Amino acid sequence: MTAHVLESMNEVITNNYDSDHKAIDIVASDKKETNIIALDGGKVNKVVNHVKGTNHQSQGLATYGNYVKVKQDNGKTALYAHMKYGSVKVKEGEYIEKGTVIGTIGETGNAYGKHLHLEIQNENNVKENPIVYLNNTSTTKNTNVQKENKTIENHTNPTTSYNNSAKITQEYLSAKNYKHGSIVDALKSIGINSSYSYRKKLAQKNNILNYHGSYSQNVYMLNLLKEGKLKKA
Ligand SMILES: [Zn+2]
Repeated sequence: MTAHVLESMNEVITNNYDSDHKAIDIVASDKKETNIIALDGGKVNKVVNHVKGTNHQSQGLATYGNYVKVKQDNGKTALYAHMKYGSVKVKEGEYIEKGTVIGTIGETGNAYGKHLHLEIQNENNVKENPIVYLNNTSTTKNTNVQKENKTIENHTNPTTSYNNSAKITQEYLSAKNYKHGSIVDALKSIGINSSYSYRKKLAQKNNILNYHGSYSQNVYMLNLLKEGKLKKA
C-alpha cells in the first residue's frame, strides 16, 4: 500500500528515518503550506490542537506540538506531528478514510521550519520506517537517496526495507558543544568551511530557500547544527 500524505502530492523528505529519528520529515516541494491527508483509513485515537507555536525546550509528547494519532485498519498507528495551531480537522473517536484531510503542515512543538513529522508504529510499538507507505517521494538535491527510496518502495517485507533504509546515509554536521550565536563561529569551531558560498550550499542542502545570510536564516541553520541535524553539503 502506498499513498500520499500531503494534499498537494509533492512530498519531499527532508529528514530520513534512522536510529535517532524514527520517523521521516516531509515538506511540500514548493514549500507551500499544504494539508496533511491520512495515509490509510482508521480510527482517530488522539488529537492535540491547542499548541500555538514552537517550543525547543519541550520534552516527550509536547515535542510533537499539535498532532493526531490514527489507529489504522492495517493494525499500525500513524502519528502526524507539528501541525498548525487550530488546523486539525478530525476528532478523537472518529473513523476516517484514507485521504481525509487531517490538518495543515505547521511548526509547533520542537520543530525548526514547517514540516510534517510522520511516525508509524507497529502492533508491538516498534517505530517503523514510514517511507514504505509513501508514493513518489523525493529527497531534494540528492539523487542517490532518491534511488534508494525507490528501491525500498519495491520491497514488501518490512525487514528487508529496514536493511535498505540503513543504506540511506546522510552526513550531518554537529556542533553540540557550541554555546554562542554565530553560525560562522560554530562552523569554524568544528573545522568546517564557514565562507558565505559554502553556507549557501549548506542552506540549499537543508532546504533554506534564497539564502542571503539573514539573521533568521543563520539562526535556523545554527539550531540545526547545534542539534546535529545540519546536512553536510
Ligand atoms: Zn521529525
